[in-house]
Amino acid sequence: MVISPTVRGRFAPTPSGYLHVGNALTALLAWLQVRQQNGTFILRIEDLDDKRLHPKYIAALFEDLHWLGIDWDEGPESGGPFSPYHQKDRTHLYHAAFEELKNRGLLYPCFCSRKQLRAFAVAPHGVTSEGPAYSGKCRYLSEEERLRKATDKTPSWRFILPDTPMAFDDLVYGKQTFAAGAGGDFVVCRADEVFGYQLAVVIDDAAMGVTHVLRGNDLLDSTPRQLCLYQALGLTPPSFAHVPLIYASNGERLAKRNGQMPLRSMRKEGLRPQHLIGYLAWLTGLLVKPEPIELLELIKEFDVRKIVRHRIVLPVNWSETLMKSG
Ligand code: GLU
Repeated sequence: MVISPTVRGRFAPTPSGYLHVGNALTALLAWLQVRQQNGTFILRIEDLDDKRLHPKYIAALFEDLHWLGIDWDEGPESGGPFSPYHQKDRTHLYHAAFEELKNRGLLYPCFCSRKQLRAFAVAPHGVTSEGPAYSGKCRYLSEEERLRKATDKTPSWRFILPDTPMAFDDLVYGKQTFAAGAGGDFVVCRADEVFGYQLAVVIDDAAMGVTHVLRGNDLLDSTPRQLCLYQALGLTPPSFAHVPLIYASNGERLAKRNGQMPLRSMRKEGLRPQHLIGYLAWLTGLLVKPEPIELLELIKEFDVRKIVRHRIVLPVNWSETLMKSG
């Protein structure tokens, strides 16, 4: 085993539902990447947006991760040198970064309504994982227009994307290039004063010394935005590995929100962790056969280069078969 005590990785779930196999896969792979290099694994709860979250999901998350055999060296229960590990308790850090960016003229207030924003979806700018790409409408408002609009509406704040293309090497998907301004200027602070995911994740990963980010490929197009923030704030970015998402047999995303296949229900039906881990490792390309395996055994099979790049579609009745084999 290569000893790299400086390797630090994390799993950073948003507790808006019970863990499903897709989240479990991301957690497993992030854990394996860190454990294989004898690094430090961090659990961070991304609970900035109160409305979508419930404490019962956090308690269930701990149980599900423990059941899978995933442990963490730093996190909400155990604490650690970069406490707190809940984003809702870290807003002072996002606030400081927000002020810095604002004072440096890198942000502008945006007064666009939801309706206007939705209309951008059909414009040539397209849609990103965060919704319609912003056209930049409010970027060039005069100071007077801003003051006038601010009397009617509290603005959100957007980060001005630099006028240069962005590129990075993803450990799974290889070289990724993005045109200048791809996705449009993004929100770092909403009108209701909730800080945006992009800002919070960058501040936390940097403050927690994260060297390895492994997460779902739905966030691939967030990475150039995050790299812009790293650059603007003079922070060192981690390496990035994006992993395929799992889809149900009907092609739909497994969403925590729509209650598809929560892990805890499958556990109650008799699913055993070794069976699920072996099956997921096979789907991901880490194992050649879908055989049960102990998580610790899988560490030596992990290689980020083995991870498949195609979307993973679960066969019909996959869970029944697995639960019976338990
Ligand atoms: N909180 C995000 C999610 O649950 C993940 C963020 C990240 O890994 O960068 O999808």
